[in-house]
Amino acid sequence: MAKSKKTTFGLAAAGAVAAIVGYLLPWGVENVAEAAGGKVPGPTATAPDRYLYYPGTEALDPDEMRVTACGTGMPAARRGQAATCFLVELGNGEKFLFDIGTGSMANIAAYMIPYDYLDKVFISHLHTDHFGDLAGLWAGGWTAGRTGPLRVWGPSGATPEMGTKSAIEGFFKHYQWDFKTREAVLSPVPGQIEVHEFDYMGNNAIVYQENGVTIRSQPAIHIADGPVSFVLEWNGYKFVFGGDNVPNKWFAEHAKNADLVIHECFPTPEILVKYYGQAPTVALRVGTRIHTSPPAFGKIMSTIKPRHAVAYHFFNEEGTRYEMYDAVRQTYDGPLSMATDNMVWNIRRDEIVERMAVITEDAWSVATLEPPPARTTPPVNMYSKEILDGAWDIRDSEQQLLQEHADRYGIDLKTFK
Ligand SMILES: [Zn+2]
Ligand SMILES: [Zn+2]
Repeated sequence: MAKSKKTTFGLAAAGAVAAIVGYLLPWGVENVAEAAGGKVPGPTATAPDRYLYYPGTEALDPDEMRVTACGTGMPAARRGQAATCFLVELGNGEKFLFDIGTGSMANIAAYMIPYDYLDKVFISHLHTDHFGDLAGLWAGGWTAGRTGPLRVWGPSGATPEMGTKSAIEGFFKHYQWDFKTREAVLSPVPGQIEVHEFDYMGNNAIVYQENGVTIRSQPAIHIADGPVSFVLEWNGYKFVFGGDNVPNKWFAEHAKNADLVIHECFPTPEILVKYYGQAPTVALRVGTRIHTSPPAFGKIMSTIKPRHAVAYHFFNEEGTRYEMYDAVRQTYDGPLSMATDNMVWNIRRDEIVERMAVITEDAWSVATLEPPPARTTPPVNMYSKEILDGAWDIRDSEQQLLQEHADRYGIDLKTFK
């Protein structure tokens, strides 16, 4: 839970008091209007926009940046919290995904952003809780209207096999049946992945530069060589995303003067023992030597002093959030969000606003460009004779459906196979 969230609730309470006072005292009426966000209060008025964000209903100002947490939890993803994923949307229309951890695809889908706009993924490192749902975005977006290839940026490793290029080659081997069978039916282009592997040792090295956006990477320290952190700069704004990472000098240096800094803040060793099934020594090692503990997170933030700090990579609920929050506050008293899934930040010149996205469980994809063209040839036959022999011809039952669809879209059923 965020400090600013508490403040928001405080304001709401103050507004309610002002409203009551307003009914009692004539001079309070103005206060009521103020409490209602400047709108005239009354039974037909809208509530002030304080804490909720409804995806797909707000245009982004050309000078504004919006960041949405699509995954903030642990490798054992749970329904309430997917593993690491953050969506960055810029006022110039550009959108970027930073990591795409296990379970995050369901949140991404709920924002109802056309898949054509979700084609750029930056991976901090190759743990599944940071790229496990690449498969969902790849195949799901392919079936749901994406017209171009997916583009992935990720670090090299100490050896070629430990790098992103090798991981994506392996991905296609792993998903060969998926790839071949979809490619036989759908437009093949959106099924491709363009890989941009960059040197993990690049220190503030540019890995992306297009349309006024510059993204740099820097080494991170997490179990083995390879992991990185990212700095995105656009329009005078600076956004920093750290994947898994113990405190290091590169992050401390390059995250300075940033607007929003996202950094892991791992569960305390005690939480790992109590709730996550880890042995005490393992919990201590994982929580302090492989990841950043809450007080170490606080120390990083009080050193770099961002406009707003975001802590993530812990399960955030009543049982844990106060212990986590108190541990961060031992070393940091600046602006802070204790992230959970679907938390949203709007970054503007004069303010950074934290809200929660109200999402639907039943989102469909939204189309933008013309759908990918149908193949001009029928699907390649990938059946053996033995399997074809098992087909049961009940096509008569769907004749009406076929005819109606063909009539609606001008499809010639005589040549359709
Ligand atoms: Zn990791
Ligand atoms: Zn992780």
